[in-house]
Amino acid sequence: MDDDQEYLPLSWLSQADYCLRRAALLLNERVWVENVETAKGRAEHERVHTQRVERRGDFVKLYENSVFSDEMQISGKCDCIEAVRDENGCTIPAVDFPVRLLPVEYKHGKIRDESEYKIQLCAEAMCLEEMYHTTIPAGALFYITAHRRVDVELDEALREQVRQTVQKLWKIRREMLIPSAVYGPKCKRCSMQEYCMPKVKTSAKEYCKALLLEAERVETE
Ligand code: SF4
Repeated sequence: MDDDQEYLPLSWLSQADYCLRRAALLLNERVWVENVETAKGRAEHERVHTQRVERRGDFVKLYENSVFSDEMQISGKCDCIEAVRDENGCTIPAVDFPVRLLPVEYKHGKIRDESEYKIQLCAEAMCLEEMYHTTIPAGALFYITAHRRVDVELDEALREQVRQTVQKLWKIRREMLIPSAVYGPKCKRCSMQEYCMPKVKTSAKEYCKALLLEAERVETE
């Protein structure tokens, strides 16, 4: 990993798939607004996760392990990586025998078939593949409240979605873009609603911004 380069947070791929504007507000304006959903998710996450390695014979679980991709310039942490002994597998620093890997991403709330979850999971697998020169055909989502595990096939279509989401995220980062709001059902669950004002027309917002800037300018003169 290159210390001089910026790496985008891997978990924000999930935000970008949910709403590109939300990801841009996080990335370029550093806005974070907590709501009940995000607070619940964070609390559950903190309860379950501390960095550790659990080993039972040929089966190892690595929690909160850092991952990165130089190719995509993203970095983050895997909630859990399962490593099972496999003579055709790869070698990783925490284990002294060859293993095959499977990332597991923990989610709170009820079971939902969300593309954003799968994209994040697949990006983690792609980071692991690049780091340890291996192939990871599947991962899993574990729903904490429901206590259910759902397997996810990491096929080429999903990998392409990851690449495209990374590209979109880098574009808004490099060009400091904040895409316009598109109001939809997703906005009802979004913690950024008050800040984003998705129902207000862009032109009205621009107008208000311009008024504020003008007021600030007059004040400083
Ligand atoms: S309120 Fe809607 S448009 Fe605005 S950031 Fe949230 S999801 Fe995106």
